[in-house]
Amino acid sequence: MTPDILFSGENLQHEYRIIDPKGQIRWIEAKMNPTIDAHGKLIRIDGIAANITRRKLAETGLIEKEVQYRNLADSGMALVWASGTDKLCNYFNKPWLEFTGRTLEQELGNGWTEGVHPDELESCFNTYIAAFDNREKFDMEYRLRNVSGEYRWISDLGTPNYNSNNEFIGYIGHCFDITDYKRSEQELINAKEKAEENDRLKSAFLANMSHEVRTPLNSIIGFSELLADTDFDEDQKKEFIQLIITNGNNLLTIISDIMDISKLESGKIKIYKKQINAHQFISSIKNEFLFEVEEKNLELKLSIEDNNSEIVITADDGRLRQIFHNLLSNAIKFTKNGTIEIGYQIKDNVVEFYVRDTGIGIPEEFHDKIFERFRQVDNTATRKYGGNGLGLAISKNLVELMDGKIWFDSMPFKGSIFYISIPCNDVM
Ligand code: ADP
Repeated sequence: MTPDILFSGENLQHEYRIIDPKGQIRWIEAKMNPTIDAHGKLIRIDGIAANITRRKLAETGLIEKEVQYRNLADSGMALVWASGTDKLCNYFNKPWLEFTGRTLEQELGNGWTEGVHPDELESCFNTYIAAFDNREKFDMEYRLRNVSGEYRWISDLGTPNYNSNNEFIGYIGHCFDITDYKRSEQELINAKEKAEENDRLKSAFLANMSHEVRTPLNSIIGFSELLADTDFDEDQKKEFIQLIITNGNNLLTIISDIMDISKLESGKIKIYKKQINAHQFISSIKNEFLFEVEEKNLELKLSIEDNNSEIVITADDGRLRQIFHNLLSNAIKFTKNGTIEIGYQIKDNVVEFYVRDTGIGIPEEFHDKIFERFRQVDNTATRKYGGNGLGLAISKNLVELMDGKIWFDSMPFKGSIFYISIPCNDVM
């Protein structure tokens, strides 16, 4: 029976496989041209059959190769993209799409730039376009938003792409997530900077220290020698003895601070807590410092609300005293005129002590550094105020060993207020 299609009068084309006499599969392309007469009768078919096996094999080979290349691009870690001669992206591999969580359609053209961090977008474009126009390789870093909305650092290596006739057909790029690498690189840089800073601080500390130790020591030796000199009367010698005692005490403070900081850093300081009446404690501190404050023509004020006078804290009396000594010595040292005020308030379950002064204050840029050891606003050789930069570091360590906190507010030329909070018990 003649197939109906032959009566349509259209040219027919068909591809099919045959087995040749040697038993091999061959591809045949058949073209037929049926002729129909006026009564619709098929009167003739012109036909031609060609062996297209070679072409077919080449075609299926190409398809197979393309599948293999796609698998290759999809199976690695790299996020791969390609662009055409119009600079627009026309391909993104599976890892790229999985990374961004977007569809190919969203990424094509310039769509991918929607995921680039705004801070790097412009430089990203500039690098790409400059390299593209010069047909050069490029290597750029930018943050790209991933499927969870997190920006990750990407290293993007772009290479010009050429076809088999050596004609430029666009670019191919390979991208790698380098966030972890960048993070550890930054940590190394920070650690290096910190080590350099520590080194610098230690050198400044040693230079200051030799000055701080030598000054009282020279005075002690000098005035001791004068004591043996018969040219001086008894009153002058009493004055020398007083100076020897003062300088001896200064020297003792410096040596004690160095011992304390090394013990604190090796965890060897023991805290002996006991119950202390906050009111009695701060009153005794006031009495201890009254003379020193008045000697500098400053006023020392004690402020406590009456109903707080029976409050009890649990702390190491000696160490708490040491902290107040540091804070008050600083307040006196850095205040030329005005008032120094000490006191406390009850806040929830803590007693919040404070030491306020009307001194030179601490510049904003030092606020997060001042509790670090050896830190001083001025640590130059020509500095005006003595000290070793250890007092606040020691105080912070000690307060924390007593489960408390230390912090401050300060404004240059207005003054500072240092707070210490210590857990409190019931009323005694
Ligand atoms: P030192 O007083 O021996 O230098 P500290 O650790 O006690 O060391 O203080 C560190 C630095 O903090 C001081 O050198 C000073 O620059 C600053 N500072 C501390 N207390 C005050 C204050 N009350 N007023 C102004 N500056 C202060």
